[in-house]
Amino acid sequence: MPKPKNPTLIKNGRIITATDDYAADIFMLNGVIQTIGKNIEAGPDTKVFDAHGCYVLPGGVDTHVHLENIIGPTITCDTFASGTKAAAFGGTTTVVDFALQTETDSPLGAIARAQSSAEPQVCIDYSFHVIITRVDQQVLKDVRHAMVHEGVTSFKMFMAYPGVMMADDAAIFQMLRQVGADGGMIALHAENGTVIDLLIKEALEAGHTSPRYHALTRPAILEGEATHRGIRLAELANAPIYFVHVSSNEALKHIVSARAEGIPVFAETCPHYLLFDDSVYNSDDFEIAKYVMTPPLRRPEDQKHLWRALRYDDLQVIATDHCPFCMKENHLGYRLQKLRGKDDFSLIPNGAPGIETRLVSLFDIGVTKGNLSLNRFVELIATTPAKLFGLFPKKGTIAVGSDADIVIFNPNKSQTIRIEDLHSNCDYTLLEGYTLQGVVEKVFLRGTLIVDGKEWKGREGMGEFVRRGQVQAF
Ligand SMILES: [Zn+2]
Repeated sequence: MPKPKNPTLIKNGRIITATDDYAADIFMLNGVIQTIGKNIEAGPDTKVFDAHGCYVLPGGVDTHVHLENIIGPTITCDTFASGTKAAAFGGTTTVVDFALQTETDSPLGAIARAQSSAEPQVCIDYSFHVIITRVDQQVLKDVRHAMVHEGVTSFKMFMAYPGVMMADDAAIFQMLRQVGADGGMIALHAENGTVIDLLIKEALEAGHTSPRYHALTRPAILEGEATHRGIRLAELANAPIYFVHVSSNEALKHIVSARAEGIPVFAETCPHYLLFDDSVYNSDDFEIAKYVMTPPLRRPEDQKHLWRALRYDDLQVIATDHCPFCMKENHLGYRLQKLRGKDDFSLIPNGAPGIETRLVSLFDIGVTKGNLSLNRFVELIATTPAKLFGLFPKKGTIAVGSDADIVIFNPNKSQTIRIEDLHSNCDYTLLEGYTLQGVVEKVFLRGTLIVDGKEWKGREGMGEFVRRGQVQAF
C-alpha cells in the first residue's frame, strides 16, 4: 500500500460553507478532506495547524481572470505564475482563465496553446473558458469534443468589440443551443458593440480624447439592450446563460425579470462595481485610466441594485475580471499598457487588477458592513461559481472527499492595502491605502500549505488542470 500523503490537521477553526457554520477540526490526506469532526487526534507524522479565532473557508474560485491574455496589440501584465500566486495570497485556489480562438485555429488549438503556457507556471488549480469568435460546423464539432474529452464545458462570447472579438447573434444562438443541450454554459459579454463603436468614433471626432470618455461612450442602456437580447437568444435556444461583469441596473432588471419567468439566467458582478462609482471619472487627468475597464463604473444607484441582487440571488457570483495593465510604460518590460491611450481613450487597454483583493474587499464591504451573511459570502466567492462551471463538489466547499483547498481567514485583523505588498505584476491597485477588515492567514491547495502569512510556500507548476463537468444550475 502506498504511504499516506501529507497528513495535515487544522484544529479549532470555525468552518464556514455556503450552508454551514460550526466549530470542528479538518483532517486532510492525499490532497482531499478525509475527516471533519470534533477533537480529531493527530498521528505522529501529522502536521497540525491551529485556526483558533479564525474562519475556515473553502478556497476561493475565481471564474473570470485574464492572465497573459493577448488583447489586441498588448498583453495583460500578469503571467500565469504571477497571477496565480497573487490569487493564492488572496485566498483563491482555483481560477478559470480564457483560451482565445484566433482567426486561424480551432477551439481545441486554443485550449492546447493556453495549456502549454499555463502548465509550467500555475501555482493553483485552473481551467479555461474558450472564447469563441467564429462559428462553423467544424467549430461546433470541436466545441463538443472539448466538452466531452477535454473537460472544458464553458465558452465565452462577445457582443462587443466588432472586428476583434464580437460574434453575431446567429453565432451566439448556435453556440447556446448546442452547448446548452450538452450540459455546458455560454458566458456572454453583453454590450451593444456596434453602437458603442459609433459613439467612440463620434467622441474622438469631437476632440474628446481623455479617459473619462471611455465611460461616456459605453452607456448602461447598451449593456441592458445586449443583456435582453442574450436572454431572448438563450430562451429560444432553451439553454442556460451566464452574464459576465454585470455593472448596471439596466442589465440587471432584464436578468431579474427573466429569472422570474423561469429562464435559467445567471450572472456575476465584480468587486470594483461595488467598491467604486462613476464619480471617479469626473476628471481629465490620465490617472483615471486606472478605472478604464469594461463595462465602466456606474452610478451609486446601480450599486444599490447590485447589492440587492447579490442578497436575493439575482446575482450568483462575484468574480474579479482581473485584467491588469500597468500605468507606467515598460514596468517589468510590459509595453503598450495604459499609456498607449494617452491621447486617445479608445486605445487604453480595458481592465483593472483585483485577483488578490477579492476575498478581503468583499469580506469588508460585504460581511462586516452588513451587506452579506458569511454563508452568502462563501456561496458567492466559491460555491456557486464552482457549481455553475462544473467544478463542484471537488471545488467550492468544505466536505469529506472534496479537494483540501482551505483558507484560514482571520476576521479580527485588518490590513491596509499597498501595491508593494501585493504579488501581481501590475503597478497599481484600485484599493491603494484602503484599510480592510479581515486577513488571509493561511492557504492550502489540495492539502499543501502554499501561503503562510506573508510567506510563499507554493511553487510554480504545482497547479493542476481541472477537468470540469456539466453545469449545476439548480
Ligand atoms: Zn473579462
